[in-house]
Amino acid sequence: MRYDVIVIGSGHAGCEAALAAARLGASVGCITVRIDRTAHMPCNCSIGGPAKGHLAREIDALGGQMAVNIDCTLTHIRAVGTGKGPAVRTLRAHADKSLYPERMLGALLSQPGLTMIEGAVDSIITRQGACLGVKMESGEEIESRAVVITTGTFLNGVCHTGEVKESAARHGERAVVGLGQSLRSIGLRMGRFKTGTTPRIDRASVDFGAMETLHSDTTEAFSFLHDRIQVERKLLPCWRTRTNERTASIIQANLHRSAMYSGQIEGVGPRYCPSIEDKIARFPDKESHPVFLEQEYWDKEDLYVQGTSTSLPAEVQLAFLRTLPGLQDVEMNRPGYAVEYDVIFPDQLSPMLMVKAWPGLFSAGQINGTSGYEEAAAQGLVAGINAAHFALGREPIVLERSQSYIGVMIDDLVTKGAEDPYRMLTGRAEYRLALRHDNADERLTPIARKIGLASVDRAKRFECKTTEVQNEIERLKGLTLGGRHNPLLESAGLPTLTGSVSAYDYLSRPGVVWDALAALFPSASPVSADARFQVETQAKYAYYLRKQDSEVQRMRRLEEHRIPEGIDFLALRAISKESREKLAKVRPLTVGQASRVPGVRPADISALLVYLKK
Ligand SMILES: Cc1cc2nc3c(=O)[nH]c(=O)nc-3n(C[C@H](O)[C@H](O)[C@H](O)COP(=O)(O)OP(=O)(O)OC[C@H]3O[C@@H](n4cnc5c(N)ncnc54)[C@H](O)[C@@H]3O)c2cc1C
Repeated sequence: MRYDVIVIGSGHAGCEAALAAARLGASVGCITVRIDRTAHMPCNCSIGGPAKGHLAREIDALGGQMAVNIDCTLTHIRAVGTGKGPAVRTLRAHADKSLYPERMLGALLSQPGLTMIEGAVDSIITRQGACLGVKMESGEEIESRAVVITTGTFLNGVCHTGEVKESAARHGERAVVGLGQSLRSIGLRMGRFKTGTTPRIDRASVDFGAMETLHSDTTEAFSFLHDRIQVERKLLPCWRTRTNERTASIIQANLHRSAMYSGQIEGVGPRYCPSIEDKIARFPDKESHPVFLEQEYWDKEDLYVQGTSTSLPAEVQLAFLRTLPGLQDVEMNRPGYAVEYDVIFPDQLSPMLMVKAWPGLFSAGQINGTSGYEEAAAQGLVAGINAAHFALGREPIVLERSQSYIGVMIDDLVTKGAEDPYRMLTGRAEYRLALRHDNADERLTPIARKIGLASVDRAKRFECKTTEVQNEIERLKGLTLGGRHNPLLESAGLPTLTGSVSAYDYLSRPGVVWDALAALFPSASPVSADARFQVETQAKYAYYLRKQDSEVQRMRRLEEHRIPEGIDFLALRAISKESREKLAKVRPLTVGQASRVPGVRPADISALLVYLKK
C-alpha cells in the first residue's frame, strides 16, 4: 500500500491534517487506534474562548473543518470578551460530545482521496535520511512520501487517580508504547508532559436553584460559511458555582494523596490550566475559585465540572465536590484523572511543522507540547497542508505572526520550544488588534484560495463580504456631515458637530455606532452584520491599526531576509558565542525568526544582517 501522506491519529490535529491534505489532492491514509474515537473530546466539551475562538475562526478561514462542525453540533454558545474591545471578543460554544465526533468522522469518510485505517503504528520507516512510511504493530508496512504524527496523549500514556496509576492514553483507551521508542531511536528529543481532567457528575443530583444560570447569548456562527449557528433546538444553559473554605481545607488535607503532589507524576503540567489542587496550594489566600457546570450531551445526564481538573483519589473528589453550593448531594459518574505522555520538543521542527532532521516527517497537536483542541486542530491543518505540498512537490506555507494566531503559536513553538504545555493566549500576540475574530477571513482566506483549499462557497462568500465592507467604507467616506445635521444627530442621541467631517471619521468618535448612523443615513444596499462590525471596528481603531501596520512592515522586512539553509552558525565569528550556539540549535529560516530566539542579542542580529548582505 502507498499513499502521498500518512496521518497517524484522528484526534483534532489528525482530522484537520487528513482533510486538508486530501482536499489539496494528495492520497491520504489516516491511521488511528480506534476509528469510533475520531475527534473524541476527552476533556471539556467546549470549543472557543479567548484566543481559542480566534484559532477556530482562523482554521475556518484557511479551509479547515472545526468551525463548521461546532456550528452544527453545539448545545450552548456565548460571546466572550465583549467588554474588552474588538481584539479580544470571540465565541465559546459547548459541543454535544457524541454529535461533534460523529459529524467530523462523516466528513473524513466522505472525503475523496482519504482512507481511514484502524490500527496502531509501531515505528517510522526511515532510510538514508528520508522518511519512507510507517510500520504497523501487526508488522505491515505502509509507504508514503510524507508522514504526519498527531498522536496526542497516547505515546507511553500513564493515567493517575490518587495512588492508582495505569498505562492508558485517556479514559477507556490504551497507551501506545512502540512509536515513542521509534521516535527516540531516530534521534528526536522527547519529554514528558502532563494534563488532567475533571470529575463528571450526574445532572439529576444537582440543586440548580443554588447556582447562577448562564444562558446562551448569541446565535452568531463560528464559521464564515454560516450566517448563524446550524442548530434549530432551544440551546442549553450552563451554571456557575464557587469553591469555599471547606473545599480548600479538604483539598489541603489530602494534597499528599494527589498524584501531582505525591511525586508519582514526573511530567510537567499546564501552567495556564492548573488543577484544583494547584489552585488551592498556589493561591492559599484566595477565598474561592469559580466552577462551571457544562452539559456534555443534549440528552444524557453527564455534567462536566469546569475548573476542577484533579488527580486526587476518587473519594476525595466526591468529598470536595459536595462542599460546593448546589452540589451538596451530588453523585459522581466518573472521577477526574491526570495523564502523563511523551512529547516531541517542538524546537526540532521548522515553521512548516516538519522535523528539521527528517524531511517528510511532520508533527502536530498535543505531541508537540501544546494543550487544547483548537491548538491541536490549527497545527494539524498547517502540517496537513505542508505534508501534501511536500509530497506533491509544491512550495510550503508559513504563516506569519502578523497574520494569525496560528502563526504566533507555531513560531513560539519552533523558535522558543515548550517547557510546559503550551496554550494559546491573546497576550502572546504582539499585533492582536489586527488579529481579530471578525477579520480572520480577510487575513487567511486569500491564502486558502491561492493553495486551493477554499471551497467555491467560501470563495464566493469572502468576495461578497469584502465588496460589502469596501462599498460601505467608501459610502461613509463620501458622506459629509456638518453642523446642519446637528438636529438630526441630536434626535438620535448622537454627538453634535462643529465642523464638517466624513461619516467614516465621525464613526470613529466615542458614542457613535454604525446602527444609529445607518438609521439616519441608510445604505441603498443591505449591509450584513459581519460587514457592519468590520466597518465599525476599522473606523474606530484606524489610528492604532495604522501604527501597528508600520511595526508589522518593519518586522516583515526582517522576515524577508532568508537565511541560507546550510549556514554554519557556529562559524560566524562576528556573533557572540552564546548567540551562535542558540542559533545553531534552532536553525531559524529568516532573520525575523532569528531575532525571536530567546537569548540572541540585538547586536548579533545586526551582525547577522551584515553577514547576509556580503
Ligand atoms: C485527560 C485529558 C485531559 C485534558 N485536559 C485538557 C485541558 O485541561 N485543557 C486543554 O486544553 N486540553 C486538555 N486535554 C487535551 C485535549 O484533549 C487535547 O489537546 C486534544 O485532544 C489533542 O488533540 P490531538 O489531535 O493532538 O490528540 P488526540 O485527540 O489525543 O488524538 C490522538 C490520536 O492519535 C491516535 N494515535 C495515537 N497513537 C497512535 C499510533 N501509534 N497509531 C495510530 N494512531 C495513534 C489516537 O487513536 C487518536 O486518534 C486533555 C486531554 C486528556 C486526555
